[in-house]
Amino acid sequence: MIVVMKSGAKKSDVQNVLTLIKRLKLKPHLSAGVERTIIGIIGDERLFKKEQFSMLPGVENVIPVLKPYKLASRDFKKENSVIDVAGVKIGADELVVIAGPCSVETKEQLLRTAKLVKKAGAHLMRGGAYKPRTSPYAFQGLGKEGLKYLAAARRETGLGIVTEVMESQDVELVAEYADMLQVGARNMQNTKLLRSLGKIRKPILLKRNFSATLSEFLMSAEYILSGGNEQVVLCERGIRTFVEYTRNTFDLNIIPVIKQLSHLPILADPSHATGRQDIVIPMSRAAIAAGADGLIVEVHTNPAQAFSDGDQSLTPPMFAEMMKEVKAVASAIGRTLV
Ligand code: PEP
Ligand code: MN
Repeated sequence: MIVVMKSGAKKSDVQNVLTLIKRLKLKPHLSAGVERTIIGIIGDERLFKKEQFSMLPGVENVIPVLKPYKLASRDFKKENSVIDVAGVKIGADELVVIAGPCSVETKEQLLRTAKLVKKAGAHLMRGGAYKPRTSPYAFQGLGKEGLKYLAAARRETGLGIVTEVMESQDVELVAEYADMLQVGARNMQNTKLLRSLGKIRKPILLKRNFSATLSEFLMSAEYILSGGNEQVVLCERGIRTFVEYTRNTFDLNIIPVIKQLSHLPILADPSHATGRQDIVIPMSRAAIAAGADGLIVEVHTNPAQAFSDGDQSLTPPMFAEMMKEVKAVASAIGRTLV
């Protein structure tokens, strides 16, 4: 339920509403806009009647939120959320590009790649130190050592770090190094991990699971938001369908639909969505045309030798070309890539 206050409502009117919410053992979510204050009521809606709020002084309207996600919903917050990651703003008119290798392999590899993607215009760098691999025999990531290499690359290039955290017990450590913590597709419904991330105050990149519905995706965001961490950025990275010519099917439909239903920014990952280096560039253009707030892309100096996801990694020159083409699409739809 959302309580919309009148534009001239007094502070004491707002306080009255908050007091009633607390008395009913519910949680308030205050959003003090320029025009008017909106108060969200979080909790079991069977515990109260709409009239208990609509009759209070200063209240203009009480609107039920029918969707299961509340804090993530556009009903709750009309304006787009803009999430600041190490000074880079995700969700504003300017697009954001995160680039780097799938896995952190060596210090030299990471540094070289970070410098090259920065030169081509990337705003943040990516690189996994904890890797969720399909095979237990495959490279699992360098762990803490990888985090250290990421920090060294940040010192050298000034690029903020986006890296995955797989377990709630690692959240504290990863948050010490990362500017943004990634929840991988396989962990989108790891509720223990999501709750841990709700407790920290760092931006989270939440990737959609390959079989998650839109509602499940937003409910996972809701776990983090309801824990008190409002800095959530969504990411579409492809879903499982019957097609066999790509690793996944890039569900670009979800981008404009998320924009209607949620105020959260959404990035697109054409690398995992396609699994094919040769179509990453056209699908990057398509994702931006569909309204994504930016991209996360895998780049490797020698894809054939990559420890993971070489098939879908762009070389640095290809990445530079991608940036050029995405820039053209951005300006065609009234956005910018700087
Ligand atoms: C990744 O970003 O390297 C990754 C493992 O992505 P996803 O969780 O989307 O598969
Ligand atoms: Mn990868």
